[in-house]
Amino acid sequence: MDSDASLGRLTDRLGRPLRDLRISVTDRCNFRCSYCMPKEVFDRRHAFLAHRELLSFEEITRLARVFVAQGVRKIRLTGGEPLLRKDIEHLVRMLSALRTPEGRAVDLTLTTNGSVLAKKAHALRDAGLSRIAVSVDAIDDAIFRRMNDVDFPVADVLEGVASAARAGFAPIKINMVVKRGTNDSQILPMVEHFRGSGAIVRFIEFMDVGTTNGWRMDEVLPSAELVALINARHPLEALQPTEVGETAQRWRYLDGAGEIGVISSVTQAFCRDCTRLRLSTEGKVYLCLFAHQGHDLRTLLRGGCEDEQIASTIAQIWSQREDRYSELRSSGAANPESGVRRIEMHYIGG
Ligand code: SAM
Ligand code: SF4
Ligand code: SF4
Repeated sequence: MDSDASLGRLTDRLGRPLRDLRISVTDRCNFRCSYCMPKEVFDRRHAFLAHRELLSFEEITRLARVFVAQGVRKIRLTGGEPLLRKDIEHLVRMLSALRTPEGRAVDLTLTTNGSVLAKKAHALRDAGLSRIAVSVDAIDDAIFRRMNDVDFPVADVLEGVASAARAGFAPIKINMVVKRGTNDSQILPMVEHFRGSGAIVRFIEFMDVGTTNGWRMDEVLPSAELVALINARHPLEALQPTEVGETAQRWRYLDGAGEIGVISSVTQAFCRDCTRLRLSTEGKVYLCLFAHQGHDLRTLLRGGCEDEQIASTIAQIWSQREDRYSELRSSGAANPESGVRRIEMHYIGG
């Protein structure tokens, strides 16, 4: 491994450092959001990963330790639905004990659909989880049930959000994927519901991840349009990003009722600052959300490799990275309908 890598200054071919690690802990989910796991595709015949294929908590923690030594400062647990992984709070406890070379704790966050959060929030907080994001695509119960496509009531997810607040998570991020014609009627109701609550709603453009969600550009509601809509009702001003590589552009309500974020992955690609690496449930690393293939680390882990060898493999993989799919899509150089099979969102976790 070169000395820059060992000092946590590993950079890719476009000069981007490695800072964020997203770990998918399961490819399973109890929801069937049409933009992620459409019911027709992810039905009883779909083969999910077998238990022996999943990285164990010890394996995940060992890899995370190597990544942290190489510059990772933020870890996000995701899935599928991460709270469905048995004893997930044990993994949180193990990861929260990691320290950066400067001796600091890692920023440890988790994204959930909130369905079992009411039961888990306190245990997650006690285990050392720093922050939490809950996906809520509508406040209207009928629309919410349609979006998750398993008839799950919004009240139970809102109860999960309330439990998380009681457990001490603040600010809680609320993620809403906006599909034009499906839940764009919910933008203002979401704003009204969460304004002044301390939670930060982040509106996410519907992305062409994977190849099963029937993505169409005309179902993408550009963030600029969304901000104009909200601004007309509740005037907003732009905020400066708090860190390089932040995915959301932040806006503040002028009347002091808090802030919102917009994630414009389609209309304003942010690949230039992309410092994210993704680890799949069965131990493959992916350099981009739109990648076709990953690099297998599980074989190294289970084949008796030393940490140094794993570290140098990671350094090699990252230093070769030149992914920037969203920028290429925006410039017309990449075609979302090319037919090439890409990884799916429920598998890699966003
Ligand atoms: N199940 C958890 C949840 O829904 O929060 C975690 C995994 S989910 C794949 C992570 C995030 O990706 C969620 O906020 C979800 O709404 C978002 N997402 C999934 N598919 C998407 C798509 N096609 N476009 C934009 N965001 C998407
Ligand atoms: Fe499940 Fe999250 Fe995908 Fe919805 S977005 S199907 S909750 S993994
Ligand atoms: Fe990063 Fe790939 Fe998304 Fe660009 S398209 S921001 S490189 S994950």
